[in-house]
Amino acid sequence: MRASRRVRELPPYLFASIQARKARAIARGLDVIDLGAGVPDFPTPDHVLRALHQAADDPASHRYPPYEGTLAFKSAVARYYERRFGVRLDPKCEVMALIGSKEGIVNLFYAFLDPGDLALIPDPGYPAYATAARLALGEPYSLPLDPHNGWLPDFEAIPEAVARRAKLLFLNYPNNPTGAVGTRECFERAIAWARVHDVLVAHDLAYGEIAFDGHVAPSILEVDGARDVAIEFNSLSKSYNMTGWRIGMAVGAKEAIRALGVIKSNTDTGLWSAVQQAGIAALEGPQDHLRPLLATYQERRDALVAGLRSLGWEVTPNAGAFYLWARVPIGWGSAAFADTMLDELGIVVPPGTGYGAQGEGWFRMALTQDVRRLEEAIRRMKEAGLTYHSAEGAIGT
Ligand SMILES: *Cc1c(COP(=O)(O)O)cnc(C)c1O
Repeated sequence: MRASRRVRELPPYLFASIQARKARAIARGLDVIDLGAGVPDFPTPDHVLRALHQAADDPASHRYPPYEGTLAFKSAVARYYERRFGVRLDPKCEVMALIGSKEGIVNLFYAFLDPGDLALIPDPGYPAYATAARLALGEPYSLPLDPHNGWLPDFEAIPEAVARRAKLLFLNYPNNPTGAVGTRECFERAIAWARVHDVLVAHDLAYGEIAFDGHVAPSILEVDGARDVAIEFNSLSKSYNMTGWRIGMAVGAKEAIRALGVIKSNTDTGLWSAVQQAGIAALEGPQDHLRPLLATYQERRDALVAGLRSLGWEVTPNAGAFYLWARVPIGWGSAAFADTMLDELGIVVPPGTGYGAQGEGWFRMALTQDVRRLEEAIRRMKEAGLTYHSAEGAIGT
């Protein structure tokens, strides 16, 4: 038996190798503080659960759903886009329900790449983009995000020969892993660039409601004409604490939605309609879970920033998403730092290189543990003498 080249040549999923290392640390008796995976540690709002219970009891929910999503859910998505972004969508052809946005993101590569085609992938970026490009037998091409320009890319710097081979351009703001937020101007440039080069822009708005300090994340579809050349992925996972439910949506260019639908209708048979009913309750019900949620993430962010600064770090507080992105101590590599943090201190932090070559010299901390645990992490670093200025190899055995 031999797995396909696709499977054999794929690098191991970042979090799978971290999980194995974490298990070894726990087996050695370490009390592990996991600042790795980006999973909200809060429950789904009650009224969303109640909507699921009710829908689950209805025999109409016990059959195959329409593969592209129920019209009721798609209409709720369209109303959300109008309310939240002032963007009018036709629920029949500009909206699609997804089994979590990752499903749609990965399938989009199958829908748009032929072997050898390029997909421009933000670097650093969410690992699924580059992996999906490889699975579709295309090539991920790194679009460097500029730390000196708020982690936005420079479209002018994309070589002409690359642009000619590119079929897809991915963007993601609020950004994982850097916590940076997007700007309307950046979206306008992306749309203009994509028009010139006949490339589909895919924007990942998974953290659409997770922004701080007064920032309100824009949709790329707010840009004039974007609906002809852009698709946007959105998700209830992070905004409504629903990562386990697997519910997301794609909105935007009809042609892109249609192509995605061709892959989906031949791959899965849609998202359980009871979960879509719960999704309607999330989008249309009270939004009052959001304010305390954001206040809590912000309080954690501020605690972690203060702690790192007390250890000599210069760190920029993230304006969006729930990740703090910081430099590894001077002279360290990302992998050595992440390994030391886990093996010696029992603190899981993904190395920046897990998000692309540009992540070298950085690491990520998820704000998905309470302040007490974050302060415990800082205390362990301090006790071990791990500061921004400590030399590689000075810590541990
Ligand atoms: C969490 C995350 C997703 C996936 O969300 P699901 O809807 O749960 O699949 C997509 N993009 C980014 C950048 C994420 O961090």
